[in-house]
Amino acid sequence: MSTLHNPRSTLHALEPMGRGTPEVESLTSYFCRLAYSHGMTAQKLADWVVAHFEQSVCQKYGWHQRSFSSMSPESEQWAAWLAALTGIASLDQHTLAPWRAVLGTPGLAPKSDRWCPCCLAEDKETGDEPYLHLAWDVAPVTVCLRHKVQLATTCPHCQRTNVRNRSAVVVPGYCTSCGGFLGDAETEPATPEALWTARQVGLMLQAAPKVAPTGLVPLLETVIERMADGRPSTFASRYGFSKSGISHWLNKGGIPTLKAWLTIALHGGIGLDKLFAGDIEGWEPPLTPVQMSIELPESPRAGIKSRELDWDTIRAQLQALLQEPEPVSVHQASERLGVDRKNLYLRANIETRALADRYQRHRASVGAQRQARLQAQISNVLDERLEAGYEGMSARDIWNRLDTEAQSVPGIFHHISQVIDSRRT
Ligand SMILES: [Zn+2]
Ligand SMILES: [Zn+2]
Repeated sequence: MSTLHNPRSTLHALEPMGRGTPEVESLTSYFCRLAYSHGMTAQKLADWVVAHFEQSVCQKYGWHQRSFSSMSPESEQWAAWLAALTGIASLDQHTLAPWRAVLGTPGLAPKSDRWCPCCLAEDKETGDEPYLHLAWDVAPVTVCLRHKVQLATTCPHCQRTNVRNRSAVVVPGYCTSCGGFLGDAETEPATPEALWTARQVGLMLQAAPKVAPTGLVPLLETVIERMADGRPSTFASRYGFSKSGISHWLNKGGIPTLKAWLTIALHGGIGLDKLFAGDIEGWEPPLTPVQMSIELPESPRAGIKSRELDWDTIRAQLQALLQEPEPVSVHQASERLGVDRKNLYLRANIETRALADRYQRHRASVGAQRQARLQAQISNVLDERLEAGYEGMSARDIWNRLDTEAQSVPGIFHHISQVIDSRRT
């Protein structure tokens, strides 16, 4: 296989922090560090990215009012845009977007910005760039597992809240209001319960879930089967859920909140990472369930579908598209392979950017050829008319003598004037 041409990235190929660990960096933080590395404000970079992808900008919209690290499609879009511009794949792992199919929204977003002062101080001491953790943007997490302290919300220097990243200019770790170091904040020790929750969410954030949206009901059915002998009403009363809530999950596409999953993890004695990986084959809840004779025609595990695409094959297909004589755009590739464009940039970054790069070069050269053809045609008309003894030709005279294709080129009168002017000098 030939080596793949990896186009130079448009923005710095900044390495994200803590990938694949419970201390994974949030995309908000990555974005701020990226802007800082380019000597730009976060606001300016956000405006530039939006303009680059030709999206309309609402001027009043502060960049920090956009959603960078959440479960929303907008976060996923930003991850894909930044992956396209930096050449760093899988930036959606720095958002909660991969959990959209398994986690309900209520209670997920914190009411104000939090951080662990000890983590920031440690980054600074060891000479690393302080960064913000994705876990700090998950509301049920209230403590730092590493330092066993509560997360802070108030700047120790100016006593203000929401001063972590809600400003045009952000340097992660420093107050956006007074510029003081947020790692100086004092905190209280964490409770064991809060540490348990932080540990669960940390395990969850290490890897994207593998349960497909279609696999959620079979997973929940297995949970209810193992924890309450398959009886939803017993399950509801035993673990403090409402019966209508359970019915909503099983029959109406409802998605359990993180708090509900934590309840399942706690009482079921199973990690969130295992639950979301659908890795529950040998799972036995700690409570001995009342034995009931339930007929199970097949293993419940069989119904839990994995949504993993075969990326090795997709990459090979993209490489084949790169070899086609006619350059293929990312849009066309996405349609031919039936894979979303965002995912192509996130999971097959080099191949996708190579396609985009080749297509852009092709477009540019087609444009240049068209331009050259047009100028030659204008020159010819001008030569003919001058030879025939005409002087002082207007642009409109020339336009009337061009063919229809040339006449329809945008800015045609500008091109004609340019040729006329070049003759005068
Ligand atoms: Zn910490
Ligand atoms: Zn401050």
